[in-house]
Amino acid sequence: MHKKTPDGHELNPETLALNLGYDPKLSEGSIKPPVFLTSTFQFNSAEDGKRFFEVAYGIREKDPHESLGLIYSRINNPNLQIFEERLAAWDATECAAVFASGMAAISTTFFALVRPGDVVLSTSPVYGGTHYFFHKILPQFGIEVHLVPAGNDAAKALAAKAKEVGEKKVKAIYIETPANPSNILTDIKACSELAAKLTKSTKRKVLTVIDNTFLGPLFQRPALLGADLMVYSATKFIGGHSDLVAGVVTGPANLIDPIKGFRTILGTVATPFTGWLLLRSLETLSIRMRRQAKTARKIAQFLNEHPKVTNVYYPGLLKSGDPQHEIYKRQCLGPGSLVSFDVKGGEKGAFKVLNSFKVCRLAVSLGGTESLVEHPMTMTHSDVPKAELEAINVSPGMIRMSVGIEHEADLIHDLEQALK
Ligand SMILES: *Cc1c(COP(=O)(O)O)cnc(C)c1O
Repeated sequence: MHKKTPDGHELNPETLALNLGYDPKLSEGSIKPPVFLTSTFQFNSAEDGKRFFEVAYGIREKDPHESLGLIYSRINNPNLQIFEERLAAWDATECAAVFASGMAAISTTFFALVRPGDVVLSTSPVYGGTHYFFHKILPQFGIEVHLVPAGNDAAKALAAKAKEVGEKKVKAIYIETPANPSNILTDIKACSELAAKLTKSTKRKVLTVIDNTFLGPLFQRPALLGADLMVYSATKFIGGHSDLVAGVVTGPANLIDPIKGFRTILGTVATPFTGWLLLRSLETLSIRMRRQAKTARKIAQFLNEHPKVTNVYYPGLLKSGDPQHEIYKRQCLGPGSLVSFDVKGGEKGAFKVLNSFKVCRLAVSLGGTESLVEHPMTMTHSDVPKAELEAINVSPGMIRMSVGIEHEADLIHDLEQALK
């Protein structure tokens, strides 16, 4: 199926997630794409093999309507290609590349597009693995990363930091929004505009890269706000069942092609079975994320009125007049389903609550069908310096909850009894 019906009606991502890029006629009429568990593909002729390799290794430009022929599953595989086409449609971008993990997607993207001597500017906080990659790995390749606080003033701070380090060196602006765990929002459009301005003044492309794991692709579509690349941990909402590890990058062909070239050689691609699981997951992405957000809103309201809870961090609770609410209105189509909250009694109080849940499971990760709770300060954010934690509102009493698809009454009952 194509993106438009024969009479020109444009299909929505929810519909495309069931149909795009797969022709049952090529697979015995199977309604679902089979899992193509094969390492290699048979060529129809030696000439075909030669043509496929010319494109794969960039010896020759692709003809306008030519797609890369199937060669070997480190280069491409039908399960991965169908998923990539469907996710790119969801993100309103041309292309996507799927990886063995979110970290594989993020690291391969930087290795493909950033060079020694370049500087990367990033908002802080970022995901722990990304933080490690920025501070311990990229410097070994002569690439510096400078952080500025996420939030209302991030675009201004990034502009100032660019001046400080030398605008000509800046190659990429990296943003994680909402930021983990306190859901701080950074203005994607303002940061994309800054990158465009720097591109113009320095005469070389400055990329805007968004970690869209928390709200995308359903509730946040950064490409429509001027961002170049969206990176995802597909382990989270896209996979959605806590049963796989994967990552994706989406964006225009001129950026995704070199990233795929690096993926082929670094071997950071996902397996065909992971591709198949991701295809299954994409079909229910919209109903899962909407249901999770609906329940999360109820939970945030419940927590907000609970006497033992001192603060609730959830985009759905932002009030008009708050600059964060302005950003929310501009770029978010929904509040998502991560709710962080502070309980009285510091770490001891938080642990007591965490150890009392009967339905919610005590585990890191997020975005799955089951509700998970964790303690950011001693778990996901345990290696972040204390001063930085304070700057992002992480206190010893903070609990982060990833709201699943259980019945809302059961989750509220579970919170009620745990807070007792
Ligand atoms: C989990 C996560 C990652 C890393 O993804 P993996 O699939 O675990 O490699 C990156 N960014 C964010 C926001 C995440 O939550």
